[in-house]
Amino acid sequence: MGPKVYINGNLYPKEEAKVSVFDHGLLYGDGVFEGIRCYNGTVFKHSEHIDRLYDSAAAISLEIKLTRDELKNAVLDTLKANNLRDSYIRLIVTRGEGKLGLDPFNCEESQIIIITDTIQLYPKELYEKGLDAIIVRTIRNHSKALSPSIKSMNYLNNILAKIECINAGAAEGIMLNTEGYVAECTGDNIFIVKNNEIFTPPASAGILIGITRDVVIDLAKEDGITVREEQLAQGDLFNADECFLTGTAAEIIPVANIDGRKIATGTPGKITLRLLNKYQELTRSHSSV
Ligand code: PMP
Repeated sequence: MGPKVYINGNLYPKEEAKVSVFDHGLLYGDGVFEGIRCYNGTVFKHSEHIDRLYDSAAAISLEIKLTRDELKNAVLDTLKANNLRDSYIRLIVTRGEGKLGLDPFNCEESQIIIITDTIQLYPKELYEKGLDAIIVRTIRNHSKALSPSIKSMNYLNNILAKIECINAGAAEGIMLNTEGYVAECTGDNIFIVKNNEIFTPPASAGILIGITRDVVIDLAKEDGITVREEQLAQGDLFNADECFLTGTAAEIIPVANIDGRKIATGTPGKITLRLLNKYQELTRSHSSV
């Protein structure tokens, strides 16, 4: 029995899980999504992800046909049907089937898709050694044009940046905003440590407000570490004592060097490792439902 994919209330074998070529999600990237983790049978920060999805949908005038609780249950049912206790969940809401014109309101009904899969993490050694990142030339979308806080199906901005990283042999790409300040990475948020304080770009830098970012800020504060959401310049990255990235899939991953320049000693820093341990304790300690 292969994986089952949820589409609008039904579960289909992977090969039969299909949507129309007239879906505006395909035609225009018109839709929103979430990437969620399930640890030991419990969906991590489920409500936060569902809330962000509804916020993204509201920002593009997309109506989700289920209530938040119904959608949460659909995620849980899909996990059960796939017999998965540790997984990566992709929750997608597309605009639905319509005509070839842009008009989203011609589309019949939004489509809800839930794909569950096993998680592909960065290789273990990168968590021990830190990864290589570059600062990419692709500028993060201007928040007044298409806000990075909307987790939309239109990820071309990030994909262009990702192509630069792949061609450069780097694991992640750090994107600057139109003002030249640090925004975030192609699929992760960024943090630095300087003089035992933690810094991360604020929402106004034009970022996706990561759920992992919020968890890490809380964990750091719990530990008595000051966290400052402040504009960061490229130079702040090179002068940092530590640098790490956060994301649902990556969790917390240290950065060893940026553009070939070592961050401090070029090995994961103390605060990074401490937070990484705390994050793992938090997620791994989840009891089953
Ligand atoms: N920024 C971008 C552009 C992302 O795609 C992601 C991954 N969803 C993140 C940041 C991290 O967000 P989260 O911690 O919610 O996964």
